[in-house]
Amino acid sequence: MREDKNRYGFSGGDRDEIRIEGLEVYARHGVFPEETSLGQKFFVNAILYTDCRRAGKSDDLSLSTDYGAVCQVIHRFLTDHTYRLLEAACENLARKLLLEFPGVQGLTLEIRKPSAPIPLPFASVSVTVTRGWRRAVVACGSNMGDKEQYIETAVHKIADDMNCRIVRCADRIVTKPYGGVEQDDFVNGALLIETLYEPEELLEFLNRLETEAGRERIVHWGPRTLDLDLIFYGDEIIRTEKLTVPHPDMCNRDFVLTPLAQIVPDWIHPLYGKSVTVLLEELQTRAKQPAKADER
Ligand code: ATP
Ligand code: CA
Ligand code: CA
Repeated sequence: MREDKNRYGFSGGDRDEIRIEGLEVYARHGVFPEETSLGQKFFVNAILYTDCRRAGKSDDLSLSTDYGAVCQVIHRFLTDHTYRLLEAACENLARKLLLEFPGVQGLTLEIRKPSAPIPLPFASVSVTVTRGWRRAVVACGSNMGDKEQYIETAVHKIADDMNCRIVRCADRIVTKPYGGVEQDDFVNGALLIETLYEPEELLEFLNRLETEAGRERIVHWGPRTLDLDLIFYGDEIIRTEKLTVPHPDMCNRDFVLTPLAQIVPDWIHPLYGKSVTVLLEELQTRAKQPAKADER
């Protein structure tokens, strides 16, 4: 969904920005004792990436992000907390703002410290971070016990996690097992989410939900109460020991591509440059072709 992203890859918005410049806060962040006891002036610059179109067309404050309220939250947060590092102040404040203001898809936050304890002439030091909600696609499957319920529970847990919001949920489908192991039919589904988790954190969270559903890994591709696979994470290509994204076998799986075609038909596979709809059509075409002689 490249067309659905701003230049930082955050979901939902376009290139609209709300900027706050030079917000002054007297606070107590720093490594030295004088900094945490006496405090000093900090200046905050923030760029909020948010879709201003609806507020712009209606002139309705309730459809916009209230920058006055954002300033108040920044001020309160920086005076209520004490961090040794500007990095920590930035990281935690960015997170606070993303959770507090749902219309803000991403932000660039700079905290300047013009009176930092440096025994040399200087104007200011600062730390800047860019953070935001990222779109990801998760496939789910179950073929043991109350399959629908396992998936339903996982969907609720994802919706209830503060680092995730569900954008779209595919209809569940019943599919035949894959991978040659004799076992019960599957129920499969997929979710489009927005998340503040990094890819590996998201995988850990999904693995935790599998464990909570009593998942045991006995036979590879064997029966399972719950399987949650990370299919896409923005347009990132990830190959680590624990995680491969996009999911390496997704293009061969009808039970993954069918639910995806319902919720993210135009999502472009970052390695193949093809949409989910095209990948599904190609899979269905391959499935109709007779197997080649050397593969029999
Ligand atoms: P498949 O991944 O082929 O669908 P599976 O889901 O049955 O098989 P699991 O036993 O659930 O396989 O996962 C095996 C390992 O795959 C996990 O420990 C995880 O670290 C790793 N993994 C790598 N990439 C992904 C991904 N994109 N989504 C989920 N797990 C992944
Ligand atoms: Ca799987
Ligand atoms: Ca899995």
